Amino acid sequence: MQKGFTVWFTGLSGAGKTTITERLVELIQEKGRNVEVLDGDVVRTNLSKGLGFSKEDRDTNIKRIAFVCKLLTRNGAAVISAAISPYRDIRQHARDEIKNFVEVYVSCPLEVCESRDVKGLYAKARAGEIKQFTGIDDPYEEPLNPEVVCETDKETVEQSAQKVMAKLEELGYFA
Ligand code: ADP
Repeated sequence: MQKGFTVWFTGLSGAGKTTITERLVELIQEKGRNVEVLDGDVVRTNLSKGLGFSKEDRDTNIKRIAFVCKLLTRNGAAVISAAISPYRDIRQHARDEIKNFVEVYVSCPLEVCESRDVKGLYAKARAGEIKQFTGIDDPYEEPLNPEVVCETDKETVEQSAQKVMAKLEELGYFA
């Protein structure tokens, strides 16, 4: 069996987690691996439907994602999680549970994420229509020791995805 792993993206809304994931999926498939994605938005409409954005609910959401990632990873799959996952302690929990865990900090200044405003959520958060929005009125705790940092205000999507692939190769996941 091939060695499973989870690429764990973390970063602000609009930083580029989903966009880099789409390219990374192609690159992993080109290596002949099966890959499964747990996208934060998708998870919230099924696995975590009904959960809100309090710290407790966010933690429950991330624990569920981590649980599924663990099951897949231990069965040799390549897994990608793309959720904001703003809290350091719960990302550490995910790392401990999953073990073959590659944390990728998708770094992008708040102003840039806000100017992109892919889903129009920052405008709503600024207008007070959405509460507890990460980066506006809810905290984002940057990773202290991520395996990879992608600076999406300075790199192309391709460069970011290739950086992650290089790290996966270095860690021996495509041996
Ligand atoms: P997230 O999943 O983190 O909320 P998305 O991937 O949905 O973010 O949105 C990121 C937006 O930023 C997309 O519109 C994407 O085209 C754009 N973008 C511009 N440059 C980059 C880059 N270097 N990496 C990733 N996304 C980028």
